[in-house]
Amino acid sequence: MPVLILLAAISVSFPTAGTKLPFLERCYMTGAVPLSVTNVTVQGKAADLYRTGGWITMIDLVEGTNSIEIVAGNDTTNCVFTVASKPAPGKAAPPSANEYGKLPFASDVSRPHPAGKEPADIKIVLDAGHGGSDPGTKSPHGIGEKVANLQLVREIAKVLGEMGYKTILTREDDSFVKLADRPKKAHAADAECFVSIHHNAPGFSTDPRTVRYHAVYAWNTIGSILAEYINRRMAMTLEGDIPTRGVLQANYLVTRNPEIPSCLVEVDFMTTPEAEEAVFDGIRRRAIAKAIAQGIDEWCRAAD
Ligand SMILES: [Zn+2]
Repeated sequence: MPVLILLAAISVSFPTAGTKLPFLERCYMTGAVPLSVTNVTVQGKAADLYRTGGWITMIDLVEGTNSIEIVAGNDTTNCVFTVASKPAPGKAAPPSANEYGKLPFASDVSRPHPAGKEPADIKIVLDAGHGGSDPGTKSPHGIGEKVANLQLVREIAKVLGEMGYKTILTREDDSFVKLADRPKKAHAADAECFVSIHHNAPGFSTDPRTVRYHAVYAWNTIGSILAEYINRRMAMTLEGDIPTRGVLQANYLVTRNPEIPSCLVEVDFMTTPEAEEAVFDGIRRRAIAKAIAQGIDEWCRAAD
């Protein structure tokens, strides 16, 4: 899911001077950084630059005023921004699973499982996360997650099509689709299931070099069953590549669906140069697409 990136590219996404950020102890910066960048100073001390095709670094923030200076050739960019004070202890508990409620247009009754139906009679909605003005997370070279999501969705649709299934894409190109309109398409199509595809980024305080995994998120039991089939196949395909966190519960708008089994796949992270290279590798993408399609196919055929 989207994680706010402080620096998508040095020239465009630097926090504007005077920006107030929520309290953070550390955060990472990532971006497509020109080779002309020779020096980054955070609070007056040289920052550890990590450049392998892209660029990424952790910075330590202080409560109050923070200053970052970037030297690129003869140009120096200065940024001063504020970090809020630590919140009072015990505050800000995460919302409970049902706090947001289900999708308003979804019925409370789950649709019958498609077991016994022919693939040609089964409609699968594939949702490429983000799109248009919403890039999602960004790779070190500044490529939006929306691109990786659509590439993979197209491959999954191809494999499912070869198996005889009908697929519906919530977006066919780089267009912006409102979040709530995505599951609506599954309802409009009278679909059997809904699978959303995303690529991940760690939280601000996690060093992206230390975290990579895949996971499938669901909100309710019908979504979790579908997620288990998908995750099982992904874990087999990605064994020895990236670990699985398995099926996890999450309160995402696109998965809060009591009627149509829905889940969201976080395929991989794309926030280090190595992860970016893997995510945009066509052979690996086809293998992942096949795994997800096989998982969906096995769920469709299962007798539950
Ligand atoms: Zn996302």
